[in-house]
Amino acid sequence: MKDVTAALREHFDTGITRGRHWRRAQLRALRRMLTENQGRIERALAADLGKAPAEVVITETGIVISEIDHTLRHLRRWMRPRRARLPLFMAPARARIVPQPLGVVLIIGPWNYPLQLLLAPLVGALAAGNVAVVKPSEIASATSALVAELLPRYVDPAAVAVVEGGPEATTALLRERFDHIFFTGSEPVGRIVAEAAAKTLTPVTLELGGKSPVYVDATVDLAVAARRIMWGKLLNAGQTCVAPDYVLTTPKVAAALVPLLRAAVAEMYGAEPAASPDYGRIVTPRHLKRLESLLDGQRPAFGGEVLEGTRQLAPTVIDDADPDSPLMREEIFGPILPIVHVDSPRAAIDFIAARPDPLALYVFSDSRRVRRGFLVGTRSGALNFGIPAAHLGVPELPFGGVGNSGMGAYHGEFSFATFSHDRPVLDKPLSPDSAAMAYPPYGRRATGL
Ligand code: NAD
Repeated sequence: MKDVTAALREHFDTGITRGRHWRRAQLRALRRMLTENQGRIERALAADLGKAPAEVVITETGIVISEIDHTLRHLRRWMRPRRARLPLFMAPARARIVPQPLGVVLIIGPWNYPLQLLLAPLVGALAAGNVAVVKPSEIASATSALVAELLPRYVDPAAVAVVEGGPEATTALLRERFDHIFFTGSEPVGRIVAEAAAKTLTPVTLELGGKSPVYVDATVDLAVAARRIMWGKLLNAGQTCVAPDYVLTTPKVAAALVPLLRAAVAEMYGAEPAASPDYGRIVTPRHLKRLESLLDGQRPAFGGEVLEGTRQLAPTVIDDADPDSPLMREEIFGPILPIVHVDSPRAAIDFIAARPDPLALYVFSDSRRVRRGFLVGTRSGALNFGIPAAHLGVPELPFGGVGNSGMGAYHGEFSFATFSHDRPVLDKPLSPDSAAMAYPPYGRRATGL
């Protein structure tokens, strides 16, 4: 690992990565890598997670390509030094803020969107002029191998190193000195990364998970809400960090919603979702077992069938779930949707506010008072009205968590900022010596304090 980071640092120190043309060339190469290898990428993601090709485009390659295009369009402006205004007593002087690359950064990816969540941060790191170690998740092994093969063939191989492996490889990497660590994954491993980073005082971005709630009331078209909730929930068979984790609603709305959720599943995936080419797989038998155990003692309104052969779990809804059950204690990360009954929007807000800050919150309500209640009464990485998960595809929006769901954010200009140091540059001419008024002896000079 030492040799890998030393070689990268040497390359960074040549200064080659600072130029705009180098940065643009890397981004274009990354884009070519995605378009020229679309078929292989689809096959790798099908092998790892049973992802349908359309889902690969919508949630993996498409998001990275849109990040690249947005960055190519705006990079010149983001790189430009920004003038800062000075207080009058500083005159004459000039000040600017000059974004500078951080140096050698480490990007650690998870298995659920193994391409997007590794490469979207890399877009920001390269755009900001850094060199990087990328560590794909060993659990999505086909995608990991493909990234390790392709990246050095497209982007500057002296600027990007792929290190494959699991916790041991990551532990070894974390002993090295980086200028920034960008981690996407679970909260427990996020803590391990933050602890390791503290030893070398390395800044970290932590993109973690959590239970993202949905609130629904009767002011909206429940059939559309049901379709959107199920779409967000069943993307990648529920293994999505911003998937709706559970629904909060009144018993009356729940009674109307459950058949609509079931109809939405049938519309999107047919009567037998497991047979649909669009319905994904659970990543490993171990993860399937974990989901299965969450269903212990539960009586699903529909779904609940486990297919070990294809590592699938049918879309499952559990109505009137017990808020103290294991289902409601950990992030579900699979196609199980509990509905917890509350008697008012206030009770839903209190329910959310009493728990760790989620990565996202989704509200389906046309009432301005209710919408405002959620806006001011809760905290979450993101707040969407009317659609889950879609904020991830908007490069102009910062993507990240708050509290337990993470720290820092990225996408678009926020990625550029994450991987840059905003260096203030103050420039005061020596003549005239207008700073003289600040020199001692102070005597009885008014300080204004
Ligand atoms: P994970 O934390 O198990 O693994 C993430 C990465 O850390 C992998 O590369 C893995 O190899 C490495 N790792 C695992 N154990 C380690 C250890 N002991 N020491 C050092 N490194 C270790 O996460 P995961 O299971 O791949 O992903 C699922 C989690 O990630 C969920 O909680 C989900 O919500 C979260 N997630 C968050 C986002 C986001 O953008 N905020 C996106 C996707 C997933």
